[in-house]
Amino acid sequence: MAAFLTLTSGGGVASERPAAREPDGAAQPPAAPMRWFKGNTHTHTLNSDGDSTPDDVVRWYREHGYQFLVLTDHNFLTSVDGLNALHAADQRFLVIKGEEVTNNLAGKALHVNGLDVARTVPAQEGQSVVEVLQRSVDAIRAAQGVPHINHPNFRWAITTDELRQVKNNKLFEVYNGHPQVNNAGGGGIPGLEEMWDAILSSGTLLYGIAVDDAHNFKDPGNPDVSGPGRGWVMVRAPRLEARAMLDALERGDFYASTGVVLDDVRSDGKSMTVQVKADPWAKYRIQFVGKGGRLLREETEPAATYTFAGDEGYVRVRVLESNGRMAWVQPVVIPRDSPVLMALCSALVLGGVWRARGRRFTRGRR
Ligand SMILES: [Zn+2]
Ligand SMILES: [Zn+2]
Repeated sequence: MAAFLTLTSGGGVASERPAAREPDGAAQPPAAPMRWFKGNTHTHTLNSDGDSTPDDVVRWYREHGYQFLVLTDHNFLTSVDGLNALHAADQRFLVIKGEEVTNNLAGKALHVNGLDVARTVPAQEGQSVVEVLQRSVDAIRAAQGVPHINHPNFRWAITTDELRQVKNNKLFEVYNGHPQVNNAGGGGIPGLEEMWDAILSSGTLLYGIAVDDAHNFKDPGNPDVSGPGRGWVMVRAPRLEARAMLDALERGDFYASTGVVLDDVRSDGKSMTVQVKADPWAKYRIQFVGKGGRLLREETEPAATYTFAGDEGYVRVRVLESNGRMAWVQPVVIPRDSPVLMALCSALVLGGVWRARGRRFTRGRR
């Protein structure tokens, strides 16, 4: 059985996981309830090219309903101990250290965030885009950090094929709030969702995050500067701790948003359910997307369940809100032993033509 996301209801609803059993058969205490934590993993301060002190930046997020914030100055690791002494509160707010490893290859901006790195990671060099990105990812991993690849279309730096080749990286920015990052693509270059579907369709599992890339806190409301509050992740975990946030991101137990809130995201191996926390003045489209970016189904009610047919390759969800806000639910890989294919395999076995199953979709290979 392929590894599978078992996502449970949000809003503090307990995990559906059964209590694990000790070898003697005694039940362990049930796992801690899962909760949603709102966070931004890409933020600048005066320590690089942001316009505000780390204290002012942290205050903005603390006062705007976020539970965690990663400070990611360009090639600089801003200390968070003093910030957490002032602002952190158990299960309420946490600052996580980080860095934007900022590389330049012949004018191409190749930026990789290192979340919770143990030390400053210097800018990397290489002969190709893939080499520079790979060295950045490897250096971040070596510093015990979690990498995410930033704004592929900023200065049109990273192509789909280059992004696909990077190993040991699970996360990329499918939305970045900076006004010059070309999320939607253009001029023959695909947008970031098209890029994502092409990479997923090739068999490489990648999760899409939304971030602010905030630099400007002193010019609120100006769409031409990179202000805060535009893109974020909702991460599901039992506790607000740096490693719990990062582990949930790397196993895809989160959704990305520019304003859509979800009450529930769930997949049990047979189907996927998404329930929107609907605003009374808005309407929604819930789109289930499969291999090749194929629209599998669109639902117009704020809650929808899609039952896997078995041939989708993967299923992910995009929620469109009537004022342009969005949410992106992470892809679930459809295992080969889903109901339809099980029936097909049984028929093949009965027919005496069973053959070794081919290459699995490689969750966790990268
Ligand atoms: Zn910057
Ligand atoms: Zn950047």
